[in-house]
Amino acid sequence: MQTSGKENAAITSAEGMVAADMVNAMTVDVEDYFQVSAFEHHVDRGNWDSIPRRVEPAMDRILDLFQSRDVKATFFTLGWVAKRHPELVQRIVAQGHELASHGWEHARVSSQTPQQFREDVSRTRKTLEDIGGQAVKGYRAASYSIGPEQTWAWEELAEAGYQYSSSIVPIKHDHYGMPGAPRFAFQAVEGRLLEIPVTTLPLAGRNINCGGGGWFRLFPYAFSRWALSRVNTREQQSGIFYFHPWEIDPDQPRPSGLGVKTRFRHYLNLDRMYNRLERILDDFRWGRMDDVFLLNKESK
Ligand SMILES: [Zn+2]
Repeated sequence: MQTSGKENAAITSAEGMVAADMVNAMTVDVEDYFQVSAFEHHVDRGNWDSIPRRVEPAMDRILDLFQSRDVKATFFTLGWVAKRHPELVQRIVAQGHELASHGWEHARVSSQTPQQFREDVSRTRKTLEDIGGQAVKGYRAASYSIGPEQTWAWEELAEAGYQYSSSIVPIKHDHYGMPGAPRFAFQAVEGRLLEIPVTTLPLAGRNINCGGGGWFRLFPYAFSRWALSRVNTREQQSGIFYFHPWEIDPDQPRPSGLGVKTRFRHYLNLDRMYNRLERILDDFRWGRMDDVFLLNKESK
């Protein structure tokens, strides 16, 4: 969905330029607050079923918000969540959104063997398709855990029937990242699987994540808006934005024993998130990953 620069109508505002005809991809990683990778040593997977879940009410607020803005998005959903909330999955599909896979139970690719990974992504895809009744084309790795050592995962995804992955961040980070990887969509398995990295902006010699997550809560909104506008107008590229249901849930229970860095990253500015989402939804145009990035529209 690229357009020529000359035809690009742009609207101006006090904060800069926003490309009026560039569509970005809005994405949500559908998981509960206790399933994030940063909590894996504090909340045992075996205990997940004993913890009251909060994902569904948060998701309903998100679906209502998207509906109020007439935004269609992509929901990378855990198989574990889908199995326990089938009606939520069906609501996602019924409202015109794209259902995609976030793996079964948030195991990082870097913690799995190719065999385990193959089973995980195949099982998740089948479960989502059975419940949602819609072909599942996209995959996002837990915690963007396809790094330089996990490029084998792309072939496995293509084998399992996925058409695209959005599982890398071309930055250097202590938990994830593939520094030096392309910043925009590329053929990870020629002709079979597209990798669509999270949006970054090169700034002062390094790539800065400007596609959502904790960075969106850390930086002032004006920075995020400026960064995404720059990708749209200067580079003429669509961006990706991602967030999680637990990011709009400041009242979530807080497990004990978390380190300072984890607490900072997980809880920072949760109370401002919903309002910032409203602003970014209003300031840019948004669509589903498959509509924005896949050329093969007839396979929908
Ligand atoms: Zn996740």
